[in-house]
Amino acid sequence: MRIAVFPGSFDPITLGHLDIAKRALPLFDKIIIAVGENANKKYMFPLEQRLSWIERTFKTHNKITCDSYTGLTTEYCRQQNARFILRGLRNPADFEFEKAVAQANRKLYPEIETVFLLTASGLSFISSSIARDVIRHGGDYKQFVPEAVTIHPG
Ligand code: ADP
Repeated sequence: MRIAVFPGSFDPITLGHLDIAKRALPLFDKIIIAVGENANKKYMFPLEQRLSWIERTFKTHNKITCDSYTGLTTEYCRQQNARFILRGLRNPADFEFEKAVAQANRKLYPEIETVFLLTASGLSFISSSIARDVIRHGGDYKQFVPEAVTIHPG
């Protein structure tokens, strides 16, 4: 079984994440979208909310499951028997950061391979932080996120 972990904050999931996960489907038998919980990081949306949006987004894809984890991504991959980490690349800044993380992860877990997919043209400007800004200021966030993401004001 080729199992991949797609780790991230998904605060919230965006059309960029959705595109990467869907395009990775032919490469793997199973993809675990894994929401990392870092105690030092401030999130806009609670974990349960982020997970529920991901579950609803992928409910018709039986190869994709979703989960949360704390601690090292490599430890989580070991627990899940996953030999692949899936990440998206938007720009050179992503590349520099992801290169260091992928190389460190291979030191921690030599059998792990990080697989990068380039963002689809037209989606590379989308980030969770831009989506959060638009949401915070009452803009039309729907064009940046999957349909399942609905925010009730107040
Ligand atoms: P993290 O906090 O780990 O950066 P994110 O949820 O922001 O978590 O991102 C998770 C992964 O999704 C990263 O590999 C990131 O590069 C990728 N990603 C985010 N936005 C996009 C996008 N618009 N297109 C392609 N990949 C993306």
